Amino acid sequence: MTTVLVLNAGFEPMHRVSLQHAVKMLLRGVAEVHEADEDSMFGPFPRPRVLRLVRYVKMAWKYRRTGRMVFSREGVKVRDGYRCVYCGKPGDTIDHVVPQSRGGATSWTNCVTACRRCNQCKADRSLAELGWTLRVKPAEPASLPRLALAV
Ligand SMILES: [Zn+2]
Repeated sequence: MTTVLVLNAGFEPMHRVSLQHAVKMLLRGVAEVHEADEDSMFGPFPRPRVLRLVRYVKMAWKYRRTGRMVFSREGVKVRDGYRCVYCGKPGDTIDHVVPQSRGGATSWTNCVTACRRCNQCKADRSLAELGWTLRVKPAEPASLPRLALAV
């Protein structure tokens, strides 16, 4: 399915929506086209690839009382810029670096964004077994501005 990336008004990537949902957002006037496929039309619009919200929306990610950010799968994708950490192509799945079957935690430091191909290829193996390396060591995002810069 074709999805459209939604950017916050400050250009931070937020999440992906379906093309139908993206067009509804345009019709409601809550977002504008940031990047589009000019050669193909979807209804009255050039087919959008990236939308930008008209008004700034505060990210719904939560901080614990300790100031640490609560883990979220969407947050991992935003942190990694929706790119596969293994091959650098667009990615939309979450991979456990140390597989869950081997006790790997669902956490900021063990979860990364991966494309379907790499995720399937990696399966339940460790990086050492595959000879793969991480382009960036996964870490808990410290703050949203740093996230925006990392993309
Ligand atoms: Zn990949």
